[in-house]
Amino acid sequence: MRHTKFFQRVFTISSFSVVSALLLIPGSVAAQAVAEKEAPVATEAASPEQESWQVNEATLRQVSYDIKYMSSDEMGGRQPGTPGIKMCEDFIVEEYKKAGLKPLADGTYFQELEVGATRTVDKEASALFLKGPNDAEVKLELGKDFQQLICRKDFDLKNDLVFVGYGISADEHNYNEYAGVDVEGKIVVLIRFEPQGDDPNSVFDGTETSRHASGSSKVTAARRAKAAGILMVNDAKSAANADELIQPDRFPTNSLPIAQIKRSVLDEVLKSSPLTIPTGQKLDSVKAIEAQIDSNLEPISQPLEGWTAEFKSKFVQETTKTNNIVGIIEGEGPNADETIIIGAHYDHLGMGAYGSRAGGRREIHNGADDNATGTAAVIELARRFNAREEKPGRRMVFICFTAEEMGLLGAFHYCQNPIYPLEKTAAMVNFDMIGWLRNNELTLYSLNSSKELDPVFETANKGFNFKLKKPASGGGSDQIPFNQKDVPNVFIHTGTTAVYHTPEDDFEALDCEGALKVIDYSEKVLDGLVSLKSKPTFGTPKPFRLGVMLDDANDVVTIEGVTEGSVAEKAGLQKGDIILEVDGKPLTKRRELSLITRRDAGKTVKFKLKRGDSEVMLNVLLKTGQ
Ligand SMILES: [Zn+2]
Repeated sequence: MRHTKFFQRVFTISSFSVVSALLLIPGSVAAQAVAEKEAPVATEAASPEQESWQVNEATLRQVSYDIKYMSSDEMGGRQPGTPGIKMCEDFIVEEYKKAGLKPLADGTYFQELEVGATRTVDKEASALFLKGPNDAEVKLELGKDFQQLICRKDFDLKNDLVFVGYGISADEHNYNEYAGVDVEGKIVVLIRFEPQGDDPNSVFDGTETSRHASGSSKVTAARRAKAAGILMVNDAKSAANADELIQPDRFPTNSLPIAQIKRSVLDEVLKSSPLTIPTGQKLDSVKAIEAQIDSNLEPISQPLEGWTAEFKSKFVQETTKTNNIVGIIEGEGPNADETIIIGAHYDHLGMGAYGSRAGGRREIHNGADDNATGTAAVIELARRFNAREEKPGRRMVFICFTAEEMGLLGAFHYCQNPIYPLEKTAAMVNFDMIGWLRNNELTLYSLNSSKELDPVFETANKGFNFKLKKPASGGGSDQIPFNQKDVPNVFIHTGTTAVYHTPEDDFEALDCEGALKVIDYSEKVLDGLVSLKSKPTFGTPKPFRLGVMLDDANDVVTIEGVTEGSVAEKAGLQKGDIILEVDGKPLTKRRELSLITRRDAGKTVKFKLKRGDSEVMLNVLLKTGQ
């Protein structure tokens, strides 16, 4: 399908979702997502402890409605600075009010921050003017005849135009359009993508799109040839669609001034300065040039005789005001002045200008899983805790963070401007993407940020029987700024998905029942956290060290040394001992022991040793401080 091929080649890296994005094509990601949702997920037999969790239909309807509304097209993908995120803000505030949450001291629920959301082209300061032989002049209108692309620096160029075909430098294919032509300090004119796009035998990956078609490799080739700027036109295929001008923010980090001009503009230039090819034939249209290059894959780069361009632009950084949305339930009792933060980000990628994995497609990234589900969890938990008769044992602060997709900016802002002291913040629980529960597996990142947290999460799991995955590290979300401030924190997550950061992250692909199960479980977790006697201590527990140096030559694990005062020394392990078995399992590699000490940290294991001619059995408690 053509259409898809066009998107695939828009200066992108991954494109697998492109094909799938268009409607629910059988086998497409969206179709697969829906199929996954419909297909019964094989769950292992419930553990002996009966899974007693029951879905509450009324709550499921409410939570599903919240998620659906926040991920609706109306919300436009909730990018900071857009009307869509404003709508989402209003919705969350409305729900906070309905739940009866206390606002901030200024009576609002807003903690405002400024984010440098976007850089835009300063239309007044941008112009492109072509001058040709016989006083020919072509004045171009921004957004109509040409599109200025955002680049890193303002610029003001005036120089000759040199045509360089597709602007490809592919020595491995013996095809270099910069060879034999001087473009230093000049403005090169090139065709987007690559020649022979429909030729299965083309050296440029046949009909597939090769790396040479990407904008970034053309910028690199032009920069290497010391060109001062680029004017590019759509190739015949992408021009088929009304020769559309692409979005200015296609690749804002690029340093070389680039603009796209309409093919008709270049045709006008070629009329007065056609290209001459070795046969003496004149080529006076882009179409003729494409046909020529496709025919023999011979570069025909040459100056556009007599043509110069005056090309300038400025870029403005528009900062955007956006809000963390903060609602409070005061605590009661001895720990009332301690705070538990329940958080989730409510922003997402908008039309995919940044962070998208959909290959430059400018479509609504609905962000149903990421993170309308987490936001719905914060709202629902706020409703429940504030509806209770008794107040919680600690203050509960519900925060919907903004600008997470821009670099956790909302969470960093809160940690730099905490509403309640971070030293008195007992824990931060972060929800991000809880809409794809599979095989009852729930991931708890950063649970090891405090040793008092694990038992709370395990105890709460009674009746839910989640398979709790506890990665020792990782999980790029809003708990990170809190971790950096030594606040015990956990990131609750149902795992990444094929539709992550694509326009296909839609409500229809979600498992809302699974999300509700996570919310119900988290209510139990929070019950545990607000009623903990003492404030959890921060500190990822130091990985357990047995205190032995080992050698495992010939698969015989020998103790080469025992650290003074270590658990090993206290347990009676000695230099020269050969470890035959641990808990009845033969040991042949030293790494097996470090796996055991990590897996069974805190437990007692039985060592079978060969010491001299005799065998010794030792029980070793894999715990420090004993
Ligand atoms: Zn997220």
